[in-house]
Amino acid sequence: MTQPSTPARPSAAPWPATREAGFERLNRFLPRAGTRYAQSRNFDRGAGRHEAVSCLSPYLRHGLLEEPDVLLPVIARHGREAAAKFVDEVFWRTYFRGWMAHHPEIWQRYGSSVQEATDQRRATAPLDRALTAAEQGQTGIPAFDHWAQELLATGYLHNHARMWFASIWIFTLRLPWVLGADWFLRQLMDGDPASNTLGWRWVAGLHTRGKTYLARRDNILRFTDGRLDPGPDLAREALALEDAPAQRETLQLPPATSAPPLAEAWLVTDEFCGSLPDAGDSLRLGLACDEQLAAARGERAASFSAAALGQAVNPGADSSNRVFATVDGLLSSPLAEGWQELHCWSVPFGPVAQQLDQLEAALAARGRRLVRWTRAHDARAWPHARRGFFGLKKRIPALLDRLEQEAPGGA
Ligand SMILES: Cc1cc2nc3c(=O)[nH]c(=O)nc-3n(C[C@H](O)[C@H](O)[C@H](O)COP(=O)(O)OP(=O)(O)OC[C@H]3O[C@@H](n4cnc5c(N)ncnc54)[C@H](O)[C@@H]3O)c2cc1C
Repeated sequence: MTQPSTPARPSAAPWPATREAGFERLNRFLPRAGTRYAQSRNFDRGAGRHEAVSCLSPYLRHGLLEEPDVLLPVIARHGREAAAKFVDEVFWRTYFRGWMAHHPEIWQRYGSSVQEATDQRRATAPLDRALTAAEQGQTGIPAFDHWAQELLATGYLHNHARMWFASIWIFTLRLPWVLGADWFLRQLMDGDPASNTLGWRWVAGLHTRGKTYLARRDNILRFTDGRLDPGPDLAREALALEDAPAQRETLQLPPATSAPPLAEAWLVTDEFCGSLPDAGDSLRLGLACDEQLAAARGERAASFSAAALGQAVNPGADSSNRVFATVDGLLSSPLAEGWQELHCWSVPFGPVAQQLDQLEAALAARGRRLVRWTRAHDARAWPHARRGFFGLKKRIPALLDRLEQEAPGGA
């Protein structure tokens, strides 16, 4: 290993968690979203200088912006051909979510593995020390330590840095991949049960089975403009990890709609903090991420989610009495009275899905109903996300046609 380094703590610029701030970021990025993105997106220029990419992921993750909000302006500006690379990347998110919806067992399996690895960590001092060094950016691998500190300080990492970081975690440091994924999920402002778990599985050779991602020193030096050097001791090979094959289920989604229906009460989760029916007289209640995830969440990730949820539930006003950390808390509130049906966007996997199932059962026991809806874009795209990305990629032109037809003033 090279000598331990003390990288300068990267700066943490503010990321307002509103739909307006998402559109402002999109508008600033728009001129760079065509061929320039295709040519330079792999360059990690460091915190505060990630201009080769959009940095829209926290907004997309929380539903402050949805895929059509981002795809349509980029295509209108650059045309489909020049925008193709950016469009593909946005569809990777759709793909991973669709794939996870077909394989919810993978999320369950991941949860059990995190628990087992955490128990093993508690019982094994050297493992705990190695994990703590990795999480605090004190491994002695300068580039890796820099990314750990950048993530702690900013809540964001460039895609290439995530790939290098995960690869070094798994193949050089030989740490359990699920604990790396768990740490990312708690630190990233865009921490997403599908993209994160499957991003780590992809690096480890578990998603495209047998195909791993190996971080190489020359590649890191090149795509950080020589700014970051991992030193000479990175793993030279990346043998795929092994796991039981994923179990696929038949996709069964609640009814699809592109416009959320007006309802007497609407439940907001941290997955969908954006387009809701015009508030009118309807009540909005918020359910925050589950307590287990909240327990060790990074400050940047936690505050982005809380702000996104708060402004969705009660725009411009205090939302503290309308956002609940647990289903029991929500149901024991006076605001849980006076309505029969609570409507929400459905999420078929991850912590929100577990909370929705719990809430549905508790409401049913009271003779009331949780009514779930699927976003039209997901309902159209997800059936093509059963296997590899290519199955969805070949449908992208047809999916874009539909989005363009549905857009205000569309064909
Ligand atoms: C190990 C690992 C963990 C990851 N964890 C997450 C995560 O928790 N949440 C998350 O949103 N993304 C995750 N990604 C995917 C990707 O790194 C981020 O989406 C991207 O870096 C976000 O930055 P951006 O908005 O500037 O991306 P841009 O390059 O500007 O892309 C635009 C949008 O496309 C989507 N996107 C781009 N690349 C990917 C990808 N490879 N997979 C899925 N969606 C993509 C994102 O929504 C992104 O905002 C992970 C990737 C890896 C390798």
